[in-house]
Formats: sequence, C-alpha cells, structure tokens
Amino acid sequence: MSDKYILSLDQGTTSSRALIFDHSGAIVAMAQKPFEQHFPKPGWVEHDANEIWSTQSSVAAEAVAKANLSGLDIEAIGITNQRETVIVWDTETQQPVHKAIVWQDRRTSEYCETLKEEGHADMIREKTGLIIDAYFSATKLKWILDNVEGAREKARKGKLKFGTVDSWLIYKFTRGKEHATDITNASRTMLFNIHDQEWDADLLDLFDIPPEMLPEVKGSSEVICQTSTTLFSSKIPISGIAGDQQAALFGQMCLKEGMAKTTYGTGCFLVMNTGSKPVTSENNLLTTIAWKINGTVTYALEGSVFIGGAAIQWLRDGLRLIHGAVETEAMALSVADNDGVYFVPALSGLAAPYWDQFARGTIIGLTRGTKAAHLVRAALEGIAYQVADVLKAMEEDLGAKTLEMRVDGGAVANNFLMQFQADLLQNEVVRPQILETTAMGAAYLAGLGTGYWKDISEIQDQWKLDRTFSPEQDVEKINLLMDKWHDAVNRSLNWAK
Ligand code: ADP
Repeated sequence: MSDKYILSLDQGTTSSRALIFDHSGAIVAMAQKPFEQHFPKPGWVEHDANEIWSTQSSVAAEAVAKANLSGLDIEAIGITNQRETVIVWDTETQQPVHKAIVWQDRRTSEYCETLKEEGHADMIREKTGLIIDAYFSATKLKWILDNVEGAREKARKGKLKFGTVDSWLIYKFTRGKEHATDITNASRTMLFNIHDQEWDADLLDLFDIPPEMLPEVKGSSEVICQTSTTLFSSKIPISGIAGDQQAALFGQMCLKEGMAKTTYGTGCFLVMNTGSKPVTSENNLLTTIAWKINGTVTYALEGSVFIGGAAIQWLRDGLRLIHGAVETEAMALSVADNDGVYFVPALSGLAAPYWDQFARGTIIGLTRGTKAAHLVRAALEGIAYQVADVLKAMEEDLGAKTLEMRVDGGAVANNFLMQFQADLLQNEVVRPQILETTAMGAAYLAGLGTGYWKDISEIQDQWKLDRTFSPEQDVEKINLLMDKWHDAVNRSLNWAK
C-alpha cells in the first residue's frame, strides 16, 4: 500500500474545496473557501476567475498543511469543477479579459431562442447531445468575443484562450504552459462533437469561435501535466479531471450500463451510465460523456430537477413552517399519508422531462383537515416524484430498467424521503457511507491515471454501503399516487405565461 496521498480539488459554484484521500479511499483532510458571486444585471451571474484560482490554490495548500503533509507526499492531483462556466484569458498578461460567465447566467437566452427559430436544434442535438440553451458554454463564449473590444481579432491571432474552469486551473497550475481540458467538460460546451470526439468545425463556424483559442481535449484519467507553481516545492501530476456530475457518477462507482446516481442538493441531478452507446433522448434529457479511460468513452444520460432541497428551504425561509430541514422527516412520519395534498415545487419552472419555464409552484388538495405536517410531507414527496419522473424518462430512453440508483447530497439524510423514493421507483435506492462522491470521483480518476490504484477493481471495493431502501408499497397504490401527481403537474404547467 502506498504511503502517498491524492489531492482532490472540487471547484464548485459557490466555493472552492480541497480534500486529501489516502490509498484506502479515506478522507484525511479538507479545506473550503467560499468566493464572491457577482450579479451585474438580472439573470447575469459572474465569478472573478482570479478569485477562483486564489481560493482553489489556497485551500489546496491548506488541506495539505492540515494533513501535516508536504507536496512530496502528494502522488497526484484530481480536478472536478462547476461545468459550462466560461473563462477567456490573454496569454501575454495571463489575465482574464472578462469575468467568468457562470453556467447559471441567462444573458444569451434570447440568442438561444433565435438559434432555435433558425432551425439549428436538431443539428446541435445530433452533434453535441445537448438542447440549445444559455446554460452551455458556446453562446457565453460568443458573447465575450462579441462584447470585449478586439477580442475576436486577438483570439484569431492565438492571443486569447478559452477554457472551462478545469482548463483555467491547469493553465494556472502550469504557469501558462498547458492549455487543456478533459472530455467531460468539453462535452458541455455545445462546441464538441461527442461522436467524433473533436471540436466541431460547423459549430465553431456557427458561433464564430476561432479554433486557435480552444484547449486540447484529454481523457479523464491520464497524466495531463505537471504542476509548476511555487505552491508546492515538487512537481505534481494532474492526472484526473471530470465535471462535477460525471465525477460524482464515477465516485459512486456507477460503472455498469444502467447504474445511475442522483444528487439531492438544492436541485436534484441525475446521471445514468449508458455504456458505450450515446443514447439519444426522446424525453428531453441530455446525452453526455461520462468519462474516457484508457481511450474508451463511456456515455451518460443526464436530467436535472431545479427545485429539490430548495423546496425545504422555502418551507423554512419562505413559509416559516419549520426551523430546519432535519425536522421534516419526523413531521412527515407523524401523519399516515399526504391526505390528498400534492406540492409541485415548480418555484422556478420545471426542468426535465417537462421543460416548462412558465410552470409555477402548485399546492393542491387542501382541506380543513390539512395540517402543517401534510404540507411538509407533500414537499418531500414532491422531490421524490420529480426524481421518479426523470429516472423513468431515462429508463424509457435506455430501453431498460435502472440497474441500481445510488444517492448523495444533503437531503439523502432524510430516511422518509429515501424510502418514499424507493416506493415510487419500485426499485432499490442505495445510500453510501461516504457522501463526498464528487471529490472522490476526481481522486479516483487521478489515482488511476498514475497507477496509484492499478485498476478499477482495486477501488471498487472502497465504495461502502450505508443503507439500501427497498420498495414496501404495492404497485397499484404507487400507480395511483403517480397518476395523481401527474394530474397536479398538469395544473402547474404554463401558469405564468
Ligand atoms: P448544495 O450542494 O446544493 O448546496 P447540499 O447537498 O448541501 O446542497 O444539500 C442541502 C439541501 O438539502 C438543502 O436544500 C436542504 O434543504 C436539503 N436538506 C438537508 N437536510 C435535509 C433533510 N434532513 N431533509 C430534507 N432536506 C434536507
């Protein structure tokens, strides 16, 4: 067993984190720093790329110090990151030419509507697996080239570089020597052909993006570069990278076709391994690259729910019905059932599989007998119903039942929610002991990339079960509940139009 460690960098939307894993997959230290969110106009969200770097590099140093280690003890670095966020920098000054435009930023929504009207949707979907949306990098990158004076001209001369956050961190860690990204991040740009696995010339043309500014696309688990900062006295290989959702899928060891993971955080994020086939969705899900290891690409289907745990936050902060999320489990269990109350938490529209930005939150079925506990129960059930809808859509697209669903994120602490989820899915819901699956996934990719772990079979056993929730309700009862839920969803649709 090696006495070295893996440093995993988790560059998220609101904070930068660093975790150190040992050879047995245990976490030995962690450091975290939040950074500023900039909202210059309604719907716009920006980060300062320099602050992303300064927080990320300082937590890396802090985690190493906390574990009482030095750079010499670090075998490799893994990176996982907020996806789609766009950074453009000048190679002469090594400074960003604009703030990072964050995945949440909606400034290019109208342009995306135009693209749809012009009939580009099928072509984009076919090449990238994505639905035209401001969410993805392409239109954000175009916005910077259109709005920063002289940017496109400079980019054509090779003086500006584009990168997602992983790429920016690599550039900073190598002091400008390396301009690379991993294939999972590339697959979220809406510029990358997931079949040929190359930047797509037609898309670069459509968005008028000079190819000179694009990073080289690497596999998810291979030595990409060696650090050359003064942060650590030694050079350390960066040998594993994946976008946050893909890293979580890997950290959950969802290695077989049909295995899925759901993260229950503010929103819920579902990703299903579909093996070597890129499955085209008939249900408005995204097709994306899960990872590329030893030259072989694994594909995934992805679907998200906007409001997951956020529904519970709203009960607390909006309604002041509860003091904290932990109370909700006991409250939900204090009543026999939902008493006919359904809560569709479409507080900011509905994502997959409905995609209705005009849907609004709907609470229906209230009577004089409705108690606070019924509302709380309906909110938790509303999270589970939404996840069930997305997973069913995935199963339909894949043409097979889910092999196993593994869960993580803050809300999986709620046993009522997990049990109800298993009942709805009529399938097992599996919760691991370690919920740091995103950071863990990046660590595993990095360790495999240098041979620290010799192959996947060596790490597979490190994933440890906490609890399996098995369905306890009969199918007919569940079908009735699902019907009623869909009835409620229909009433929430198109409300704000
Ligand atoms: P994020 O990473 O999106 O910030 P987390 O994974 O930290 O989210 O999870 C926090 C979310 O989970 C919050 O929205 C919170 O309301 C919800 N949550 C936390 N604990 C519980 C619980 N016991 N029951 C239900 N929801 C919970």
